[in-house]
Amino acid sequence: MSRSVLITGGNRGIGRALAEAFLAQGDKVAVTTRNGGAPEGALDIRCDITDGAAVDAAFAEIEQAHGPVEILVANAGITRDTLVLRMSDDDWDDVIATNLTGSFRVARRAAKGMLRLRRGRIIFISSVVGLLGSPGQVNYAASKSGLVGMARSLARELGSRSITANVVAPGFIETDMTDVLPEEQKKAYQTQIPLGRFGAVEDIASAVTWLASDGAGFVTGAVIPVDGGMGMGH
Ligand code: NDP
Repeated sequence: MSRSVLITGGNRGIGRALAEAFLAQGDKVAVTTRNGGAPEGALDIRCDITDGAAVDAAFAEIEQAHGPVEILVANAGITRDTLVLRMSDDDWDDVIATNLTGSFRVARRAAKGMLRLRRGRIIFISSVVGLLGSPGQVNYAASKSGLVGMARSLARELGSRSITANVVAPGFIETDMTDVLPEEQKKAYQTQIPLGRFGAVEDIASAVTWLASDGAGFVTGAVIPVDGGMGMGH
């Protein structure tokens, strides 16, 4: 059955791979980004998730075209890395506004339709860093661990209506976000990955499409690491 799927941040990197994976399954996919450029076949919506009115307008457009969102993947995210003493209020606020508050805003709006449908899947893209911590990423790690508390609260709040809320915690995945890191830092990360390689966007798409599948209907409040073993035990 073709489901209404929304991927935030789906014009590149992990989000694009997610959108392509759901499209390949025959789902109706909407993608929201600031700059546009969704994959062929997806509904391409400009929507900055830090803007509440833009999020409401995006959902209205999706509901009109595809019906209420049944599967939400809150994927859009940014980094503003720097050591804590150099981290400005803006570095902190921008990351929290996008990664945490933006994800809350889309989850809240999606839950409205899912409650009426009495089913739904909410999937947050967190990070291994959310639970492990990482120097230079106080803002990012706080935003990503916040998603775990949010998902688990939603899982408890919405579970009686057959709505699941889960978290995927990627490790180091090769995308624009990680491409900008210095070579030395990349090598240091690689030594911490038992599988000895960086992840590909498809590794994340496999976990997310599984969480959205019928087979994962009894999985909620879970944090699924897809990190080559980097965060083992966390
Ligand atoms: P990219 O930087 O490649 O892509 C980020 C996406 O988010 C883009 O589509 C961008 O579109 C969108 N986006 C950013 N800010 C906003 C906003 N305010 N409103 C709407 N869309 C926005 O990132 P990745 O693909 O690497 O990462 C995707 C997710 O996975 C992020 O949440 C990231 O934190 C997480 N992650 C990534 C890891 C990695 O190693 N790559 C590891 C762990 C987690 P546009 O700029 O057009 O708005």
